[in-house]
Amino acid sequence: MNAPATPAHAHTLRLVLGDQLNPRHSWFSQTDAQVVHVLMEVRQETDYVLHHAQKILAIFAAMRDFARHLRAEGHRVRYVTLDDVGNRQSIEGNLAGLAAQYGARRIEWQQPDEWRLDAQLRAWGAAQPLEWAVVDSEHFLTRRGDLASLMGRRKQWLMEHFYRHMRRRWKLLLDADGAPAGGQWNFDRDNRKRWPGTPPEPADWRPRHDHGDLWDMVRREGVRSFGDPQAVALRWPLNRSEALDCLDAFIHTALPHFGDYEDALAAEAPRLFHSLLSFALNLKMLHPLEVVRRAEAAWRAGRAPLAAVEGFVRQIIGWREYMRGIYWSHMPGYASHNALGHHAPLPRWFWTGDTHMRCLRLAITQSLRTAHAHHIQRLMVIGNFALLAGLEPQALHRWYLGIYIDAFEWVELPNTLGMSQRADGGVIATKPYVSSAAYLQRMGDYCQGCTYDPRQKTGARACPFNALYWDFFERHEPALASNPRLALMYRQLRKMPESQREALRAQAGQLRERLDTL
Ligand code: FAD
Ligand code: SF4
Repeated sequence: MNAPATPAHAHTLRLVLGDQLNPRHSWFSQTDAQVVHVLMEVRQETDYVLHHAQKILAIFAAMRDFARHLRAEGHRVRYVTLDDVGNRQSIEGNLAGLAAQYGARRIEWQQPDEWRLDAQLRAWGAAQPLEWAVVDSEHFLTRRGDLASLMGRRKQWLMEHFYRHMRRRWKLLLDADGAPAGGQWNFDRDNRKRWPGTPPEPADWRPRHDHGDLWDMVRREGVRSFGDPQAVALRWPLNRSEALDCLDAFIHTALPHFGDYEDALAAEAPRLFHSLLSFALNLKMLHPLEVVRRAEAAWRAGRAPLAAVEGFVRQIIGWREYMRGIYWSHMPGYASHNALGHHAPLPRWFWTGDTHMRCLRLAITQSLRTAHAHHIQRLMVIGNFALLAGLEPQALHRWYLGIYIDAFEWVELPNTLGMSQRADGGVIATKPYVSSAAYLQRMGDYCQGCTYDPRQKTGARACPFNALYWDFFERHEPALASNPRLALMYRQLRKMPESQREALRAQAGQLRERLDTL
């Protein structure tokens, strides 16, 4: 590895992973000449799944920025670039080599968020002679096992139950007597509006980065990726200071409307009023508590309505922490669940966006261009179609893990396999998140100008979502019919004349035969 021929001795090496770029971690509260902080770009991490080019670039660029910051603060840093001649391209290979170079006796790392890395590092630590220690990443509001302890032996682990506990525990959006602000815990019902075109989508507040040189290096090294890195500038915050500016801009310009249009779909407004903070949060540039406290302060100052702020807070202290708790209490077996027995491969247009279905064309093209899609695009457009069409959940998981800028397995896997595909048999979702075209038409303008007609159920122009929807419930009747939340749906299905059911079945069968050409 490129470095001074014999670097000055250091007693301890501290590994900083690419998603642990938190300058306020207690590791950095003082400098110590006997401690070297190690950051490394390795093929192990570029290649464990096929990634979007922007994801690789943004993480490497942020890591490089973090290393510069640490050096400027007086810390010793060893940064191993991807093209470093001595790079052994695996984390433990590099750690072992560096420990020998520095004569280090101890290695420390922060708790990784992914099961894969956690297991790898622990196994390596146990098998080599150096002292090693794992410290908290000081990022989350819960520990790995807290959700399981809270839920105990309850049959259904409801997110709402966990969320109320978190509101109380962190004293968020509470009145002085501890009651929920506004008299209710959840304003979800207010947060389901179609966007009428006003207020306008705020201008994109994110920084713009040039990444040409870095991309050239990544390409020279032969890293495989997808998505066009040159299509758009890299618009993700690469350090805490940029992330704080983004948080500020979100609070002032988008938060007031976040709730109303949280579930909306708009062809010309791909970002709507979403925060675009997931990358900064997941790389730990921002702490979740500071983000939600800023949102709460905006409400207390009368600058954002309670429903918007509550909806935003719920995503972060509720869903985000809950997903992590599910992940750590169910891994490693969780990743292989396929409760509904779905095995169809992803249609080719998942890699091009080239489909006649306008909703999917818009959501996938945007994802391929920008490495981001908002929650309803991920859940009710792409995920909805995947579940109705019976796509293999593991293949879909790899796609989501690769394409989104914020995708790390601890949060992506429970969202994809659990919430979206119900492959976990209902651990997360109390009912499948599926809909026919009516929902998509109601939530926005995606159906306007589509080759398919959202009102037709059968025939050449019928929207594929319609027949696939009824067919999904019919095919999975044994697994789903006893779910009380689906009783109404199954009553409707049973009332349908057999001729209509047969027509829907035939239509769905044909559609599933030719997913590539839809
Ligand atoms: P906003 O809409 O502004 O929400 C604010 C914040 O809340 C987000 O930044 C995020 O930190 C948090 N949040 C919102 N919903 C969720 C959720 N369901 N789970 C966890 N956190 C949530 N989020 C990821 O961070 N990484 C992923 O890999 C990921 N994969 C997903 C896959 C599927 C199939 C689905 C349905 C959702 C996934 N999400 C994932 C959740 C959510 O879609 C993204 O967090 C969100 O779209 C990021 O954009 P934003 O920052 O503008 O979010
Ligand atoms: Fe999507 Fe169907 Fe609407 Fe077309 S008609 S945009 S396929 S929901």
